Amino acid sequence: MHSNARQTVLVVDDSALNRQMLTDLLRSEYNVMVARDGEQGLELALQQPPDLILLDVVMPGLDGHEVLRRLKGDARTSMVGVIFITGLDTAEEEERGLRAGASDYITKPFHAAVVRARVALHLQLARQRRMLEQLARIDGLTEIPNRRHFDDMLAHETARAGRTGLGLAVALLDVDCFKQYNDHYGHARGDRTLQAIARVLQTGMRRPADMAARYGGEEFVLLMPETDAPGALLRADRIRLEIEQLGIAHAKSDAAPCVTVSMGVAQGMRADELSGPALLLQADMRLYAAKRGGRNRVVGHG
Ligand code: GH3
Ligand code: MG
Ligand code: MG
Repeated sequence: MHSNARQTVLVVDDSALNRQMLTDLLRSEYNVMVARDGEQGLELALQQPPDLILLDVVMPGLDGHEVLRRLKGDARTSMVGVIFITGLDTAEEEERGLRAGASDYITKPFHAAVVRARVALHLQLARQRRMLEQLARIDGLTEIPNRRHFDDMLAHETARAGRTGLGLAVALLDVDCFKQYNDHYGHARGDRTLQAIARVLQTGMRRPADMAARYGGEEFVLLMPETDAPGALLRADRIRLEIEQLGIAHAKSDAAPCVTVSMGVAQGMRADELSGPALLLQADMRLYAAKRGGRNRVVGHG
């Protein structure tokens, strides 16, 4: 969480006076964007999702309820908090707003201090939610993306590769004889070894859309967009070598006197080859072949 990064509040109100008052009230602490009607508010929110929206209910054209409905229906803005700010002060209206998904309801004429306090509260909730979302995508031990994050990216990248035609490769990586490593050196050293491997993967995956993730236990996965089959094999083998060259002693390994990994690589070019589950299955079969073939190797065919 960047406490020094200013959060952004979007004010949507057809009254110039209200827009001015709310802006004056908030701009010392937040970035304030303003829209003079529902249409413009929606457009701004979708273009550049703010951290919170103060939304007037009664407006010509799209009213607040319709704007809220559309905000909630779009993935870009569905999680953005919306506070209704309105002259409609009956309990029924308030209930209707909250049921429709508004986070809060402020009636006009508003009290500056109350608006400020509620805005601060909802922005704090937004920060906390973002932090939790980020934490839920990171593996606790290695601090690299976890399987959930990887699965999201895989779906995204298979779809993208289908459009670009530039190919997508996936590599599954499994530490060799890691059970013996734990048995011999202890689980704590095993954990540190997984952390060291994760660091190699993360530095090795430097292209912007590349990703290294912990897939579970002592298995990792690499996602390499815009990579052809020979390129994927080269990159995978370079990473395999870098891990071997860490030189972490492993006296009980069948493969080498140090910690090594086996990898299975799958690559797709055409749309019909670009299914996430199919790529993973193929990579897994090749990983198994790498194990059978003696470990500490990369298999990308067959
Ligand atoms: P192979 O070369 O065939 O992959 O043999 P292996 O011993 O690595 O395979 P196996 O699947 O039998 O054992 C995996 C081991 O990985 C067992 C488990 O104790 C260890 N492991 C899984 N997750 C963790 C972890 O988070 N920390 C530590 N220290 N060990 C882990
Ligand atoms: Mg395993
Ligand atoms: Mg293993």
